[in-house]
Amino acid sequence: MATKARTFIVFLGPPGSGKGTQAKILEKKLGLPQVATGDLFRYNLKNKTELGLLAKSYMDAGELVPDEVTIRMVEDRLSREDCAPGAILDGFPRNLQQAVALDQMLAPYGGVTVTPLFQVDDEVVVERISGRRICRNCGAVYHVQFNPPKQPGVCDVCGGELYQREDDRPETVKRRLYVYYKQTAPLIGYYFAKGLLEEIDASQPVDQVTAALLAVLAKHGVAV
Ligand code: ADP
Ligand code: AMP
Repeated sequence: MATKARTFIVFLGPPGSGKGTQAKILEKKLGLPQVATGDLFRYNLKNKTELGLLAKSYMDAGELVPDEVTIRMVEDRLSREDCAPGAILDGFPRNLQQAVALDQMLAPYGGVTVTPLFQVDDEVVVERISGRRICRNCGAVYHVQFNPPKQPGVCDVCGGELYQREDDRPETVKRRLYVYYKQTAPLIGYYFAKGLLEEIDASQPVDQVTAALLAVLAKHGVAV
């Protein structure tokens, strides 16, 4: 039986470049779920699953969780009903082996549709990560200065408590940036060669980044 093409958007870019913020905006506009591997690991950690406990030591150190478990987790997530039209992948793939595995998973559906690359300077990344706050309950993302909640420490969406991620401490951020440049940045060439890479100036305010994203998505046949 022939399978239909689906839309799979892969967000590339360093930690703190705004991928999650934009994925949450676009999932509503496009009707595609955000599949964020970091969120999936944090969910598992919160629920003290075997996967969460395994991931914890790598996350705390700013290192990548081993490919085998990460790929299996993504495969399982993409096979769920809500991913029938496609997904916005945020934080996966993060190295070449994961990119090749994703291509295999998506081969029956026409492969990756487009890969926006979030470009920001390292100083901006550090500034954004140091002020990032997350809702413990619903996962909404804030920034103490750039996107503050109405009431400090309280989520606008659900009233949950806001916290700072363990791995958003300065020492771990440095390591995560190093891991990004060493292991993830090579994917820029990988997707460029496939004609899928689209550079986005992610240093702009949130609504301007959304507009830039929508423009490149339209170029690749993804319309709101
Ligand atoms: P990533 O998912 O790439 O790690 P996030 O979406 O969590 O990044 O954003 C990192 C931090 O920067 C958050 O605190 C978020 O509120 C803030 N942020 C995201 N996009 C922008 C932007 N365009 N301008 C200013 N701050 C932003
Ligand atoms: P993130 O929320 O995307 O910043 O990811 C937080 C942490 O989760 C990373 O520093 C890694 O330890 C782990 N992680 C997230 N995505 C992946 C991935 N695709 N491969 C391996 N580890 C990952």
